[in-house]
Amino acid sequence: MSEEGISRSGFVAIVGRPNVGKSTLLNALLGQKVSIVTRKPQTTRHRIVGVHNLGDTQIVYVDTPGMHREEKRMMNRYLNQAAAQALADVDAVVLVVDARRWTDEDEMVLERLEGVTAPVLLAVNKVDRIPQKETLLPLMDRLAARRDFAAVVPLSAARGVNLEALEEEIAALMPSGPALFPEDQVTDRSERFMAAELVREQLMTALGEELPYATTVEIEAFEEEGRLRRIAAVVWVERPGQKRIVIGEGGQRLKHVGKGARKEMERLFDARVYLKLWVKVREGWSDDARALRSLGYDESGS
Ligand code: GDP
Repeated sequence: MSEEGISRSGFVAIVGRPNVGKSTLLNALLGQKVSIVTRKPQTTRHRIVGVHNLGDTQIVYVDTPGMHREEKRMMNRYLNQAAAQALADVDAVVLVVDARRWTDEDEMVLERLEGVTAPVLLAVNKVDRIPQKETLLPLMDRLAARRDFAAVVPLSAARGVNLEALEEEIAALMPSGPALFPEDQVTDRSERFMAAELVREQLMTALGEELPYATTVEIEAFEEEGRLRRIAAVVWVERPGQKRIVIGEGGQRLKHVGKGARKEMERLFDARVYLKLWVKVREGWSDDARALRSLGYDESGS
């Protein structure tokens, strides 16, 4: 349906502790890769918005950064600030939990939601991992008692189970209003932004636990020539030792990361991609708010 047919629209935040499946859920709802999914927690640093039209309703998803217990470093303060800000102006919140376990972190997220006035939907994810389905109902009853949820929906983001039910519940909560985004705009982030995310994702996959926490990716050049993209990206690390780790022996690791990122970019942009990748050292940058801003971690979250 075109955006002229839209009569209701609103913003929806997806929240939950790391690893419950927020990115997977967002990607499944949008049917396209816009966020980062890996086995590692805390991979979503940015506020990413996806748009989905459902009949006469446009749902704009805000994928909040993980909510972290640790607040020691500037990076985490930014994440928390961005998370809090993302919740301040939404029309509905989807709280994602893992059907298999409720943890202290879930408890903390629930506490953070106490001040939120928008309706909160509870998405009980990973039900494919619950072998005895009869245990689901009592579990959902227990969870439902924790807050006055607008709805409690069991689902599996990874298997695509019951996602329509969730979206119908979300749609019912959207206020009257015109389309907020053109229909074909899946994300409000540019190709440039996505390029950086894809490099980060490949780094994460290649390095796992070895990836220094303060690593970030900056796109230095992004040129578009028809169906060709020339992209130059810098991987910023904090110390020379980390630079060696990222580059790997004989440059093999960085080469592998570059190849993987290029393939993903070609798929996403539907274009040929020339990617140049460097690793540079910027000492102590993660504690420097100005450096963060220059790399796009803006407090306004825009
Ligand atoms: P996030 O940190 O909350 O964004 O979580 P992710 O989306 O990165 O997912 C964390 C892990 O859970 C990944 O390995 C996903 O593949 C997995 N996962 C997500 N949804 C499901 C699901 O419905 N079922 C199962 N079995 N695994 C899931």
